[in-house]
Amino acid sequence: MQDLEPAAGVLYLVGTPIGNRDDLSPRALKVLAGVDRIACEDTRHSGLLLAGFGIRSKLISFHAHNHLARIPQLLEALERGERLAVISDAGLPGICDPGEELVAAARAAGRTVICIPGPCALTTALVSSGLPSGRFCFEGFLPPKRNPRRARLKELADEPRTLVLYEAPHRLLELLEDLLEALGDRPLQVARELTKRHEQQIGPTVGAALVHFRGTPALGECTLVLGGAPPVIEAAPDEQELLAELQRRVAAGASPRDAARQLAEATGLSRRTLYGLLHRNGEP
Ligand code: SAM
Repeated sequence: MQDLEPAAGVLYLVGTPIGNRDDLSPRALKVLAGVDRIACEDTRHSGLLLAGFGIRSKLISFHAHNHLARIPQLLEALERGERLAVISDAGLPGICDPGEELVAAARAAGRTVICIPGPCALTTALVSSGLPSGRFCFEGFLPPKRNPRRARLKELADEPRTLVLYEAPHRLLELLEDLLEALGDRPLQVARELTKRHEQQIGPTVGAALVHFRGTPALGECTLVLGGAPPVIEAAPDEQELLAELQRRVAAGASPRDAARQLAEATGLSRRTLYGLLHRNGEP
């Protein structure tokens, strides 16, 4: 089946480099060279990338400001049997880039959609951060205005999974300040310029990144990988309550040793500590 790629009437979502041109896969190149049309955010930007690989013309613009008008046109093209690819300026279309609505519309119309996977800043930053990657959540760009951003951070404060955020360089300092204030000095890696010559990881905490970026202005693309909310530590049981429970068990007929053992099993506290508590309070 893949030997026949790109196939007629199929929509291909193609991942393109997030910096390093060598990350464009041979399969992506084959599909981009073979399709009838490539919908892209910026025809100039993508034209330069593709020309470097000997692929010319057939670009049409597909971006945040024209995607609603374009979607019916692209669906009609698929209907006619055209082979279509969608790319974004960088990375995977549909991840904070146009593509999501087109895929939904194509699926609703019964068209085949195939993703040719490629680089994505989200996954690249996550797996190189050293923070837990088995469970994570992605919030994309937080609201650019301070109050809505702080409100969103409040909602996220108890989220135990690793959190991945995108941010524009000119808003990075403000975001770090808000993270510190709303969530505390958690583990953090800011992945800068991934896959590029000056790729850099800045951490290991929000506070440390803040010190760094106050001294060195953030330039280039940044993705933030933040540790989840620390586990809630149960408050230590109140000593008077423990004593009352031990005394209740003794009054019900348990020996002080048995009362301490039973409560130790129920609470996970040390039997010796509980026995000592009874002993200090008059039990033999
Ligand atoms: N679709 C893209 C993807 O798959 O990663 C994301 C597009 S989104 C409009 C752009 C944001 O992705 C940037 O503001 C930055 O947060 C992140 N990003 C893109 N390229 C990056 C890179 N080379 N290094 C670090 N972050 C990057």
